[in-house]
Amino acid sequence: MNDKFVYAPGPTSVRENVRLERAKATTNPDVDEEFVEFYKNTCDKIGKIIKTENPVYILSGEGILGLEAACASLTEPGDRVLVLDNGIYGRGFKDFVEMYGGEGVLFSDEYNKAIDINKLNEFLDKDHNFKYATIVHCDTPTGVLNDLSKICPLLNEYGILTVVDSVSAMAGEDIRVDKWKIDIALGGSQKAFSAPAGLTMVSVSEKAKSAMNNRKTPITGFYCNLTIWENYYKDKWFPYTMPISDIMGLSKAADNILEEGIENVLRRHERCANAVRKAIREYGLELFLSDGYSNTVTAVRIPENIGALKLKEHMLKSYNTLIITSLKPYYNEILRIGHMGENAREDKLVYALSIIDKGLKDLGFETDKNLVSLYNQYLTE
Ligand SMILES: *Cc1c(COP(=O)(O)O)cnc(C)c1O
Repeated sequence: MNDKFVYAPGPTSVRENVRLERAKATTNPDVDEEFVEFYKNTCDKIGKIIKTENPVYILSGEGILGLEAACASLTEPGDRVLVLDNGIYGRGFKDFVEMYGGEGVLFSDEYNKAIDINKLNEFLDKDHNFKYATIVHCDTPTGVLNDLSKICPLLNEYGILTVVDSVSAMAGEDIRVDKWKIDIALGGSQKAFSAPAGLTMVSVSEKAKSAMNNRKTPITGFYCNLTIWENYYKDKWFPYTMPISDIMGLSKAADNILEEGIENVLRRHERCANAVRKAIREYGLELFLSDGYSNTVTAVRIPENIGALKLKEHMLKSYNTLIITSLKPYYNEILRIGHMGENAREDKLVYALSIIDKGLKDLGFETDKNLVSLYNQYLTE
């Protein structure tokens, strides 16, 4: 199971120092106050990466937990919630809103480009009676990046709280939680942070906190209730036993990012992603998007006569390499190159592109170009 070369837009590859960190002996996270300090210190590192002074919490559960927790904690029966929909995850938020009794109102835009801020503005001009809005930063199945720097301040002007799923963008794309007025920002350990799957990171603004504390009805459930974290530091108490080894790994992964420097990390992603996009086009393939390209993942249209599923199977069988397609309805149309976190490195990317190049040619794609040469050429430009 572990001998494959895996190159997906999450979970990403985990650096050796992060893997080793998780193998270390641990203290008892329930009763040792040193762990409380360590936990807070790790949360502060995340805060630095996402540029916020708001409290950050690390919850025990993969990214989806954060999405559900935000909806569970904010939604009261009958609340109107604006769901920004230009991708599969974007639309999916509606289900979480409605699970907790809210009315999810879709603002839908085309799926092959970033949300049009003018259209959103027009929409809000007519209807802005929403408690909060959900926005996906990078919608991973298509790789579309939404411009939070415009969307979130606009929603804020209308008094609408902002819940942002940045699971596949955070630490690979810039996110400025405070400056852009993001009330709840959600991340996951297994994407650009390049730590193993299993943790959600959540930042909560003062406004979001007071919305949760001033509800007329109590929050349903315990695991998804974000208010249970509020006093952990003061009380030196956690709502449940924290997965200490996972958090030790995440802490080391955050050190890796901060040691390289977050701006350098972002530039590395940009450089890789730019070269990939140019190489793909020059090679004779099309990108799925017409604008709003995320630097964390590139969605490539695979010609119909080959099909993304067949290409994926072929690369796995012939080259022991797992490079994945997209979700329905795009699963036979799109191949995804997930250059995020530790995957946004030349050695891994060159290898992945060489397999895609071979795989396509094996299946009859005709070109006299080489994907790796093109990538290298654009990388040095
Ligand atoms: C990966 C991801 C999540 C986390 O959920 P999965 O269970 O890995 O699908 C949430 N949102 C986005 C945009 C993601 O890419």
